[in-house]
Amino acid sequence: MTITPAEALVALQPWIARHRRTAWRPEVRTDNSTPTGSAFSGLPLLSPDEDWPACPSCGVPMESMLQLDLKTLPTDRYGSDVLQLFYCVANSCDRGWEAFADQASLCRTITPNDARAATTNLNRFPTKAIHAWTAIEDSPDAPEHERLGIKFDYHFKDVPFKPMEMWCPELDLHFVGSEFIRCLEENVTAADGDKLGGWPLWIQGVEYPICPECGTEMSLVMQIGSEDHVPYMFGDCGVGHITQCPQHHHVVAFAWACT
Ligand SMILES: [Zn+2]
Ligand SMILES: [Zn+2]
Repeated sequence: MTITPAEALVALQPWIARHRRTAWRPEVRTDNSTPTGSAFSGLPLLSPDEDWPACPSCGVPMESMLQLDLKTLPTDRYGSDVLQLFYCVANSCDRGWEAFADQASLCRTITPNDARAATTNLNRFPTKAIHAWTAIEDSPDAPEHERLGIKFDYHFKDVPFKPMEMWCPELDLHFVGSEFIRCLEENVTAADGDKLGGWPLWIQGVEYPICPECGTEMSLVMQIGSEDHVPYMFGDCGVGHITQCPQHHHVVAFAWACT
């Protein structure tokens, strides 16, 4: 019996459905000029006596790229503090991309009770207050398929040539031919652009940071795409990810990757 890649996708539906997650797109508006809640380039909360954070590399005030009031999100899995990403958007800055490098960024949580809103807006970009979230369905990106139970044999070094193979052991499925792998990669992917939760869109392969306190793999809080809500490009159309330790909600990190 021969089956088509589209039919293979139908056969794989139980695996696809099991790994589907809800993500949320931010709905923004610009009519709130002093948001202290969730916003892109809004007025951030600061600790008492704290100045607006400056870039560790070049010293200019960093952009309050994203602030999330975690207790107002459509999911309570991230805790109840306020999560912040300050990021240097100065043209000439030497920016790192790795999690915890903090070369030109500050990713942290702050407890609202101890904090006050900044009084002067030092952002370069227009404020976009997040007033709602729209749920979307999200799926794991192709680089994660293998760690989620799909097995591949590419036969790259086999002589004579052998076609690529793909297995789903939990569903007892086996497919021979690169077209099946390509069909899965094209149809089961992570959404691009800005989103809360869901699955990270990976540019350079899977790069979940590890929590320095407990060794647990950190999970996605928010994906920030190039030129989506923030008019900024990470490298060449890169994608940024804010991640958090599921056990330690105060352990958060920002990293980005591009091609
Ligand atoms: Zn800088
Ligand atoms: Zn941890």
